[in-house]
This record gives sequence, structure tokens and C-alpha cells, in this order.
Amino acid sequence: MNLTRRDFTKFSTLALAAQFGQQLTPELLAQTSGRKVGYCIIGLGRIADHFMRGTLDTNNSKVTALVSGHPDKAAQIAEKYGVPKSSIYNYENMDAIRDNKSVDAVYVALPNSMHAEYTIRSAKAGKHVLCEKPMAVSVAEAQSMIEACKSANVKLMIAYRCHYETTNLRAVKLIRDGAIGQVQSIQSAFGFNCGPNEWRLDKPLAGGGPLMDVGIYCLNATRYLTGEEPAEISAYAFSNPLDPRFKTVEENVSWVTKFPSGVVASCNTTYGAQMDGYFHVYGSKGWIDVNPAFVYDGLRLTAQIATPDNPYVTLDEPNSEKDPIHFSKEADHFSNCILHNLEPKTPGEEGLQDMKYIRDIYRSAGIAKS
Ligand code: NAD
Repeated sequence: MNLTRRDFTKFSTLALAAQFGQQLTPELLAQTSGRKVGYCIIGLGRIADHFMRGTLDTNNSKVTALVSGHPDKAAQIAEKYGVPKSSIYNYENMDAIRDNKSVDAVYVALPNSMHAEYTIRSAKAGKHVLCEKPMAVSVAEAQSMIEACKSANVKLMIAYRCHYETTNLRAVKLIRDGAIGQVQSIQSAFGFNCGPNEWRLDKPLAGGGPLMDVGIYCLNATRYLTGEEPAEISAYAFSNPLDPRFKTVEENVSWVTKFPSGVVASCNTTYGAQMDGYFHVYGSKGWIDVNPAFVYDGLRLTAQIATPDNPYVTLDEPNSEKDPIHFSKEADHFSNCILHNLEPKTPGEEGLQDMKYIRDIYRSAGIAKS
């Protein structure tokens, strides 16, 4: 039998399912159905490139249209993904995707303050929406996006790729299985030294600084690791007044979150230093460290856990999956939700929760936020 690469993925997924006694869920079945969800990519920057490459390794997703303000770039990308000229739009005429039958969904990969407008326009055009994080720049915007998608009867998923990624899921499972006992506290950080010409430094486009961009990974991780919603938050922010990069957005934010069970999480984010994204979870019977935890590949989990036979088992689990696998998994999940009318694991409501906590962190740190 001659197997193509896709056939191989299909067969290995089914074999794995059989091996681990998983049911043939709609998600697995969809991988064999041959139907592909067509995505219109809105904004052709860095993250869109990862996502588009990610679709190539799925059996249920493909790029069918593009929205860009740069016709030359759009033409080059269209050629690579087999998108016809008639399916290239700009920001003014993109509402015409309504009449494009090859488009089932959009992927919004624009600067943060544009997420709400393009999500709502796409919903009004009758298309499902996969929107990048942070979902929006305010709680009110996030709510209006959810309402627009509900009233248009389309699905809305926020692209929280760590919810679909093996090592993060492994950490969550170890915690839920009681492998480190009662979780006591979590430390997490994520930041980088931001170049001077980034839209990320312009509050009207970014909505805020590193908290909106990368600190959100730590915030969201503390929620999925504990499975709880924060009860109390207190925060500090600081920007070097002499650094011209931080005229409109903050440079550093640190915050502490107390969860209802008593778990306390302390997190840091910055645009002023390289801060590899990680989390460290301390439990009554052991600990879990994922470092790096939020990048596109090369993740590694180390842990000391307790089993019924041995209270001091050490784990060292490097993840050999390569970029753009996170994006393949994310696209695969949303496409299956569309194909089988399932609710995404990270719907708009998940993004809205983070927007509320981000608002609370900024307020606690003395930075006004709607
Ligand atoms: P980017 O600067 O690389 O791309 C932004 C795109 O938006 C570009 O194609 C640009 O031409 C277009 N654009 C349209 N109007 C613009 C304007 N007025 N100003 C600037 N650009 C404009 O940015 P990116 O890193 O791809 O980030 C895009 C979104 O993706 C952001 O919301 C970011 O938070 C998110 N993101 C997510 C991840 C992830 O891992 N999930 C990683 C990075 C970024």
C-alpha cells in the first residue's frame, strides 16, 4: 500500500486512538471525512504565517482567501496556498467574503485593537471566527464580539494555542490526577525586549503593553492549571520614564492572584528583558516545571511527583514536536467544531474572562482600563 503523508497522519492517529482505548470521537472521524474548512486569513503578519503553515498538516483545514493592505504580499502568499486572485480582499472590501462559498471561517491575526471590528464584520458576513489573543482591548469589546457571533449564529474561538498543546495538557493532567498533591502556589513569567518600531508599543493599536501581549499566557495558564477563577488580584506596574518605547504602554507588570482554594499565583511580564515563558507549580507532594512553556516548540516538562509506590518520582519530558504543530492542533480543533457543530474549548467567553482580569490587574496597578 502506498501511503501519502496525510494518509500516514490519519492512520497513525487512528492507531494511537486504538492503542490508548480512546473512542472514535467526532474529532477523530472528521480526520477521515475529507471535508476541509476554508479559512480567510485577515492580516498577513508573523502569526498568520505560522497558522497558514499549520493548516497544511491538518486533514480538515485549508487557506482559501486572504485580507491584506499589501497586494504584492497577498499575491505571493496566495500563490503558495493556491488562493485564487478573486479571493484576495483588502480591509475595505473584505465584507464581500459573505458571497465567497470557499470561506467558512476567518482567522483574525491583526493588531489587538482591530480584533473586535474584524470579528464583528466577519460574523455579519456569516463566517465563523477564530480570533487571536488577546481577544480585544476592553471588556466591552469582548462582549460585543460574543454577542455579534451569537446573533449571526456563527462560532467564535480565541486562539489560545496552549490549550491544544501536548506539554501544557500533560501538566494539567498531572495536577488533576493528584500527582503533586494539593497545589499551593504557582510562579509564571513571560516577556521579551521589544523592538522600538512595533505596533505593540502603540496603545491605540495594542490596548496595553506586555500584559496584553505575553503576560496573558501566564494569566491564562494559572487559570487552566488550577481550574479555578481568580478571587483576588493585586498588581504593580513600572516603566522607565527615560525609555522612549514606553510613552503609551507599560514596560513591566507583576501581579499576584489568589484563587478560591487558596492557591496563590505570582506572575511577571515585561517588554524590557528577555524572559522565557515558564510556569512552576508547587504542590504538597511535588512540583511541576514547564520551561519553556509558551513558545512554538522545544517545550520541556520536568517534575517531581508522587505515585502510590514511590513518593519521589522524577520526570524529564522534552517535547520534540516542531512548529507549526500548535497551530495545526488549534486549526484542527476549530475546524472539527465547525464540521460537527461542537463548542470550541476556548470560546469567546474564555477570552472575555481574561479581559476582565487584565482590566483588574491594570486597575490594581494604577493604570486606567475599560
Ligand atoms: P504582525 O505585526 O506580525 O502582523 C500584524 C498584521 O496586521 C500585519 O500583516 C499588518 O500588515 C497588519 N495590519 C493591518 N493594519 C495594521 C495597522 N494599522 N498596524 C499594524 N499592522 C497592521 O503581528 P503579529 O505578531 O502577527 O500579531 C498579530 C496578532 O496575533 C496580535 O493580536 C498578537 O497578540 C497575536 N499573536 C499571537 C501569538 C500566538 O502564539 N497565539 C503570537 C504572536 C502574536
